[in-house]
Amino acid sequence: MVKIDKKPEPIVLANNKNHWTTLLMGHIARGEVVPSSLSSNYNQTEVKSILKEESRGKCMYCESNVSHVAYEHIEHIKPKAKDKYPDLTFEWNNLGLACPKCNINKSDNYDDNLPFINPYSEDPELSLFSLGPWIYPMPGNDRGFITEQTIQLNRVDLIEKRLERINEIRRLIELYVRQKNDLLKNILKDEIIKEVQPNKPYSMCTKQLLSLLQI
Ligand SMILES: [Zn+2]
Repeated sequence: MVKIDKKPEPIVLANNKNHWTTLLMGHIARGEVVPSSLSSNYNQTEVKSILKEESRGKCMYCESNVSHVAYEHIEHIKPKAKDKYPDLTFEWNNLGLACPKCNINKSDNYDDNLPFINPYSEDPELSLFSLGPWIYPMPGNDRGFITEQTIQLNRVDLIEKRLERINEIRRLIELYVRQKNDLLKNILKDEIIKEVQPNKPYSMCTKQLLSLLQI
């Protein structure tokens, strides 16, 4: 998980969220079923496209490239369930992009006293750290712990994909270190640095490899 900067609110939300929220809360107050044509109004092409852009096409929690994994989900940071935070269903700052697995694992779980690490509002690396392909909570960090456990940030498929990525970059570093030609060496170095930036998958785990560049 890495820090994400929120982009300005999409026009479709800015123009409609108050009206949609009033309608939705009205249905809930009257004990009626909320029509899905209303409750899913956050799922607009414009909204998804800006979420994708700000998260660099990656899941906000596990850093998997969502379009490579499956259909991306629009994630409600505070759950939109009617007994949780339905009033935040269309709230821009409550929306993110998640892969289906992280989204399903998180589900409607949320504790106001121990909220999950939110990469939009804080630096996740103050609460979580990586060691090889693993992501651990900082010692004594309850929010990091509950995030890693609930979203299952060390599930088998993620460990495999992070290892694959680490090995790809490790191979590049091997080539770099053995390269004698300065020009080729610099090209390799640039490539390695590019591969561990936050726009690439699993960058929290891969950037630690930079220490192997021997420069
Ligand atoms: Zn994910």
